[in-house]
Amino acid sequence: RFVASLAALDSEVPAPHRVQDRRTDSVEVEGPFHNVADTDPSLSGNRGWAEAIIARVPASTLGADLVRDHTITRSEALESVINTAHASLWGSRSGVERAAVLRRAAAILDQRRGDLLEVMAAECGKTIDQGDPEVSEAIDFALYYATLAEELGTIDSARHRSVGLTVVTPPWNFPVAIPAGSTVAALAAGSAVIIKPAPQAQQCGSLMVHALWEAGVPRDALHLVHLEEGDLGRALVADPRVDRLILTGAYETAALFRSFRSDLPMLAETSGKNAIVITPEADLDLAVKDLVASAFGHAGQKCSAASLGILVGSVATSERFRRQLVDAVESLTVDHPTNPDAQVGPLISPAEGKLRAALTTLEAGESWLVQPRQLDETGRLWSPGVKAGVRPGSTTHLIEFFGPVLGLVAAADLDEAIALQNQVEYGLTAGLHSLNPDEISTWIDRVQAGNLYVNRTTVGAIVRRQPFGGWKKSAVGPGTKAGGPNYLIALSDWEPDGPRA
Ligand code: GLU
Repeated sequence: RFVASLAALDSEVPAPHRVQDRRTDSVEVEGPFHNVADTDPSLSGNRGWAEAIIARVPASTLGADLVRDHTITRSEALESVINTAHASLWGSRSGVERAAVLRRAAAILDQRRGDLLEVMAAECGKTIDQGDPEVSEAIDFALYYATLAEELGTIDSARHRSVGLTVVTPPWNFPVAIPAGSTVAALAAGSAVIIKPAPQAQQCGSLMVHALWEAGVPRDALHLVHLEEGDLGRALVADPRVDRLILTGAYETAALFRSFRSDLPMLAETSGKNAIVITPEADLDLAVKDLVASAFGHAGQKCSAASLGILVGSVATSERFRRQLVDAVESLTVDHPTNPDAQVGPLISPAEGKLRAALTTLEAGESWLVQPRQLDETGRLWSPGVKAGVRPGSTTHLIEFFGPVLGLVAAADLDEAIALQNQVEYGLTAGLHSLNPDEISTWIDRVQAGNLYVNRTTVGAIVRRQPFGGWKKSAVGPGTKAGGPNYLIALSDWEPDGPRA
């Protein structure tokens, strides 16, 4: 299979897409960087478009052929991929040339928005409203890193030396944006890429890679591999020709990769256990809305999700807050993405282990404000739950569950709230709801997390405006943030080349 796909390198790239998949507007890919707009669901044309996508989800197999064609079962085949990528001359092209390819890729991703949404729903259970901003983010990454590649190419006091080969291992929870962001960053920096999509999101990753090939990224510079279990993953990560790894996933995965090869340079965004602090000076209506969106979007399966609400002073005993929160949670429509009204979709796999325990049991002091229920026989669909009375130092306080469970913990004042927030070993996102400028500045000065959000959700970082990445055990490597100005530099070696004093 592998030999067959290499032989097809120069032939025309097959196109598994449907051309009618377009929103009512399209993306401007030339010129200065702007974030692209998400699809506006209030336009009737877009509603019909979304309904047509949803109708195709049950029978969707758009990326299946690509998965089959790029599945690697033998170490010899993997060896050939590494050899080819290592020898790629992509890095000798100028930044401007690489950027032009990425701009074309952005346009193709936009044309494939519908296909990508279909496969995200079919493969990962993403609802359209969660998937749509993710496609926008993938496009933003391509355009933003293209802009950076052009800028780096014009700096003449230093020579930008690209790193030869990057391995990308993305997660399943953002099955398009994260594979795309990591891959286009490395390509923009002049590196060849071998990408291994998450096993649960192989079709999504494959369609994304396909769009890049179609845009003109050479086959030797970008390799898609689906590795059968066994030692292939270890062989890839441990290969000394790999210059860098971009990983998004669990902290334990980063540690495992490190154990395969201790000197492997790694840019990893790892786990999170994130909280929103709500003080008596908050706009409580807004706080409830943002807490619910942060906790239960994509069924809580985001590194950025808030799975803890830290209620300061009178908020912890406020009957109005309690009632509004319960109403908001209980009125969420929980269903598979084939239901156009679904707001909370299914889990990636049946709840088990620590997530199942979090959904079904209480720790000392806790009580259900909203008790989760398993809604169908798949074991994947759970109504969201809210636990009150969470105790400091408990599992609910400190451990990431990656599912639709929100814990509420009381704090006497803002100092105690910040201490509770900082007590977790991760530091990815953190939220504060308060309209008091003194509280806001105190909190910003002291909270330990990569992405701080005031009077907003903790999810949905926006390329360039909110570069995304963590502190503490939420990052391994330099901690450089994705979608920010330093990301390409972190993927490059620099050497002085201009006149010296
Ligand atoms: N960048 C995403 C956000 O801001 C989170 C990515 C992740 O879950 O790894 O919501």
